[in-house]
Amino acid sequence: KQPHSVVRVGRYSERDINIVSPDSPILPVGFKSKVVSRRHCEFWCSNGQWYVKDVKSSSGTFLNHVRLSSPGQESRPFPVNDGDVVQLGIDFKGGEEVIFRCVKIRIECNRGWQKSLNNFNTSAHKRILNNNQAGGSEATATGSSECSICLNPVAPCQALFVAPCSHVWHYKCIRNLIEGRNSPNFMCPNCRFVADLDADVEPPEE
Ligand SMILES: [Zn+2]
Ligand SMILES: [Zn+2]
Repeated sequence: KQPHSVVRVGRYSERDINIVSPDSPILPVGFKSKVVSRRHCEFWCSNGQWYVKDVKSSSGTFLNHVRLSSPGQESRPFPVNDGDVVQLGIDFKGGEEVIFRCVKIRIECNRGWQKSLNNFNTSAHKRILNNNQAGGSEATATGSSECSICLNPVAPCQALFVAPCSHVWHYKCIRNLIEGRNSPNFMCPNCRFVADLDADVEPPEE
């Protein structure tokens, strides 16, 4: 256990958050919900593994739905891994209505794999290119795997921009056109299709 890398979580006010405790240089994380205790739980990392423990909260810390300790009791350390859900307290209901909501934290850690070639980004890349080629003969004729601005290939692990017309460029190549004087309207330099980039992204309602 390394006391110097503890992330304290609780119902901290803005004032508390600005006080750096001498035993922990990391600023506490505050949630305003009334179901969160003033000192609720702590996270820390030891030898590459993250842990959580409840620090005598009254409404409980839950790791993947399992409560870590009884009310007011400190729990032992529990390892947390990528994809785990840590919940602070439970929804407080007054009759039918939820008055105070619990806080759910989805853990993302050790995600170095996202930055290199993997099943997710290579298949996403294939989908983008297939999508593009389905768009018509023009795309295939001009070589859909190239950015029409810099003429270099578009490849996995690059930051890309996909227009609604399915044309794809490197984000840094197309950025000036995205943020141009007609923004939020964007005219595709390949096919002249005009898109409203502020358009709703809600799923269509049935
Ligand atoms: Zn480019
Ligand atoms: Zn286009």
